Amino acid sequence: MKQQVLVIIKPDGLIKSLTGSILMKLSEAKLNIIGAKVVKPSRELAEKHYFHMKSKPFFEEIVQYICGQIHKTPRVLALVYQGENAIKKLRRIAGSTNPEEADPTTIRGAYGRITTKGVYENVLHVSGNLEDAEREIKLWFTPEEIVGDIYPVKEIVKEKTNALDWA
Ligand code: ADP
Repeated sequence: MKQQVLVIIKPDGLIKSLTGSILMKLSEAKLNIIGAKVVKPSRELAEKHYFHMKSKPFFEEIVQYICGQIHKTPRVLALVYQGENAIKKLRRIAGSTNPEEADPTTIRGAYGRITTKGVYENVLHVSGNLEDAEREIKLWFTPEEIVGDIYPVKEIVKEKTNALDWA
């Protein structure tokens, strides 16, 4: 079954110059990248992304982590992969949530760590299931930023908004 998955290389992945290695590892799944961008996550976006973790004692820490406050680099690389069994394939390459339990040959096993505050700094996010993938992709990307038709779209008339253009 063809699936779409959201992958986020978190700020530790970027600051440690792991982006190339991570993308190379992920390419072993032989999937297609259909969306990619560098994002400065707002607190609102991070809280929506982790809404299912709201009751966890480490919620504030993971929001700060993905926003780049811990690594003083407010950037993540957001990607959408597409292909057969994409979720299972990518999560296998990513490894377990807890980097200490992750197989050492996985991305999290090789590059992740647990901070002294107890946060799992596990380098990347990979959607856990189809429902999460759809919700997360719609949260991080607009239809126009994705190459291909993955979910139904509607045409809207945008109110006049201010935007920046190259001077
Ligand atoms: P995953 O990212 O593997 O889908 P979750 O959605 O359960 O895992 O958790 C979201 C993020 O919260 C994890 O990627 C990790 O950074 C952090 N996290 C999860 N569980 C813990 C934990 N028990 N202690 C500290 N941080 C955690």
